[in-house]
Amino acid sequence: MKWFFSFSFLILFTVSHAQKISVSLFNELALQTLLITPVSGHYSVITDEGEYLVFPNQMLYISKTGDSVTVRDMASNLGTWKRVSIVGATGNDVIRIKPIVPAVPAQVYDDNLGFYVDFNRLMTINLVDIDKYIAGVVEAEAGPSALMEFYKAQALLARTYAYSHMERHMGEGFNLCDGIHCQVYKGKSTKNPIILQATEETKGQVVVDANNELIAGTFHANCGGETANSGDVWVTPHDYLVSVEDNYCRSLPNSQWEVRIPLDTWREFLISKGIDAENLPPSSFVFTSKKREYLYPVGGKTIPFVDIRSHFNLKSAYFSVDIVSNNLVRLRGKGYGHGVGMCQDGAMQMARRGKSYKEILSHYFKGVSVIDFSQLDETIEVESDDFEE
Ligand SMILES: [Zn+2]
Ligand SMILES: [Zn+2]
Repeated sequence: MKWFFSFSFLILFTVSHAQKISVSLFNELALQTLLITPVSGHYSVITDEGEYLVFPNQMLYISKTGDSVTVRDMASNLGTWKRVSIVGATGNDVIRIKPIVPAVPAQVYDDNLGFYVDFNRLMTINLVDIDKYIAGVVEAEAGPSALMEFYKAQALLARTYAYSHMERHMGEGFNLCDGIHCQVYKGKSTKNPIILQATEETKGQVVVDANNELIAGTFHANCGGETANSGDVWVTPHDYLVSVEDNYCRSLPNSQWEVRIPLDTWREFLISKGIDAENLPPSSFVFTSKKREYLYPVGGKTIPFVDIRSHFNLKSAYFSVDIVSNNLVRLRGKGYGHGVGMCQDGAMQMARRGKSYKEILSHYFKGVSVIDFSQLDETIEVESDDFEE
């Protein structure tokens, strides 16, 4: 935490600047040592003692030494400093990071890196152009083989999230982490060039609700034909996160599932939820879900479907219950995921049928608009620092 006060400072970014965002990499690991290799561009190591040029494909080990960072190449130890920046000079600089301790697969990143020790681990920060970051998030969260308008919709949701959570890790000295706590980011988008194109063609665009507030742009794999009200799944209801019918995803593979559970197991679960299920006949467990419902009625009481979903690890909380032979409870479900917001399968299908990203977004989020972030009357504080210079 100490460096945060001594080294970093805040810059108030506006959209006229080339915006960068700082993302803590491998944030769920306690990194100690890693290996970096420039892939393209021209990189330098910058410390408070000066600058050291890195050759293409040169390997550098970066490791934690006490509360400082040690840099060495294959031949020698370059030194130990409190803070080390690895800075690209061309604007199209790409670098590979291979964590050594602990060992996990390498990933490739755009732009600049910064290292310091905090929380007894080697903090690894990617100071990256916001569009490149968003393209990385879209690739990680939506896969490499969809169409342009779908990627644009997904890019707007990722950008809207980023702008509304810039201060999430401010106390730790960066904007966002790369895990599911924020949005999953596995580095540079490399698998499909239209992902970055979708991000750049929608540069600056975000989604706002009727009050001009950035929305909570949630999404899931498949809604099963009807999305869920946010207030029924989570505590926070939003006017724009209300159930909508979705004909686009119904025939796709994730739209149906089936699970069979022994009758005794089902009974035990109901008893654990306070239902006097010991003496109920199996027929009283039957429930037919024609629409998405939130409460399963049984034994004169109700249980939230989301509780059943999490207990049995089901694909969704949208299902019917009946009894089949051999005393099995059969759950026949629809959809995959929490069901709130944009249905990715449906959105991909809309794109295939020629719908625009704005049509996709307004299908899943009621009463929202797409605006340029600069139209919002607010300034976002972006954590920046001296990594760049
Ligand atoms: Zn986070
Ligand atoms: Zn759907």
